[in-house]
Amino acid sequence: MRHYLPGMISILPLLLLACRGAPPPPARPPDLVLVVVDTLRADHLSLYGHPRATSPNLDAVGTEAVVFERALSHAGWTLPAMASILTGRLPSEHQATRDPTDPLRFNRMDPQIPTMASLLADQGYRTAAWVNNTYMAPEFALNKGFEVYDYEGSGAYDGRSAAATVQAALAWLAASDQPAFAFVHIMEPHYPYLPPPHLQRRFTGPGEPPVDLLFFSPAELSTTARWTKSFTPEQRAWIERLYDEEILAADESIGDLVAGLQSQGRWDHTVLAVTTDHGEELWDHGAFEHGHALYGELIRVPLVLRAPDLPARRVQHLVDHADLFQTLLAMADATAPAEAHGTDLRGILDPDRAVLSEDCLYGPPRVALTQGDQRLIVNLDTRVANLFRLDQGAQGDAKVLDDALANQLAPALLEAMTQQRGDLMLRTPAARTAPLTPQAIEQLRSLGYLSGE
Ligand SMILES: [Zn+2]
Repeated sequence: MRHYLPGMISILPLLLLACRGAPPPPARPPDLVLVVVDTLRADHLSLYGHPRATSPNLDAVGTEAVVFERALSHAGWTLPAMASILTGRLPSEHQATRDPTDPLRFNRMDPQIPTMASLLADQGYRTAAWVNNTYMAPEFALNKGFEVYDYEGSGAYDGRSAAATVQAALAWLAASDQPAFAFVHIMEPHYPYLPPPHLQRRFTGPGEPPVDLLFFSPAELSTTARWTKSFTPEQRAWIERLYDEEILAADESIGDLVAGLQSQGRWDHTVLAVTTDHGEELWDHGAFEHGHALYGELIRVPLVLRAPDLPARRVQHLVDHADLFQTLLAMADATAPAEAHGTDLRGILDPDRAVLSEDCLYGPPRVALTQGDQRLIVNLDTRVANLFRLDQGAQGDAKVLDDALANQLAPALLEAMTQQRGDLMLRTPAARTAPLTPQAIEQLRSLGYLSGE
């Protein structure tokens, strides 16, 4: 915070004289650190009011950051959501997705589209990423523009920890003296929920787990099993607490990251953004996990933006990941492509903003449009639209059962949806099959992601 003394006016001419002939060097662009915690429900963070203290470190960052209360992802599963974060484009535009006609075929991102990393590299930034989700394998082309793309795919029982990921990022940053862009992906809250030993029982407590750990066997992780398996309320509550222990592990690493940036002397010129690619359904609408729907528990995301010159505040406007794309580029004085969506979050925000989300890993293709306290979800196969009423965080979706009211409200949302997407047609992605390695296929299979329906 700058303070100007009353006497400053009178000495200003002298200062100007003293500086004449020696213009100050241009300010160094800030380092940008973008943390994407996979599968992180905003409403399960104490930062957003969760009753368990799942995010003490992020809560502390939040006291000196802009915290967006109503932020949305453009998709409900990893591949398209991550591609939208990195390009500011909608899933139907970048087309990093699953082939709707062949569950074993995935499409890589349109290589013509500039990414946050390629645009920052053009601006003189060093760029590096540490990513741990198999849907971020280089074959999907999300590595475009990264000088270092440190990828380690994860199966059901293996994968790089958040702690190791953060240490790798800090080591690279310590050796980078140019403006740096570090993209740090943390896999932890993604299921299977296996918190590190020192955090186990933090929320689940002592005693015998009410769920057989066979729940995590590959057979039970198949999509069919995970949708049809029934759990008692007690079991569901226990699984939610286990998920929260995973969030605590991710948060602990965010604390390590901030401490590392501070000890490296970078904190005063670093922009830190924290978000997720998508949320997680914990039986809010009767199902579990993600990729199958576009409800609030899946597309609402936490979004925290901390910059040295940005006053801390909480923002209630509806915002999205394309806005994050625009903002980080603008902070680096880089120009976003005209085709990219979104707006610089440091400017005046539109109170009537409508956000489009689309693309599911399973089931029929769907598109959602969120505006105000309403969300319209259209099934592109059946052409059936459903209207939902949201809570304050743009998350809880209660179906509007009053047909007359739905018919009154839906046309405007349908119009906005068509305007953003161009049309409401099902688009067959251009033929750009991602050439997955046998190891990547095995990792996806172990997570139950190749089981078809
Ligand atoms: Zn994900």
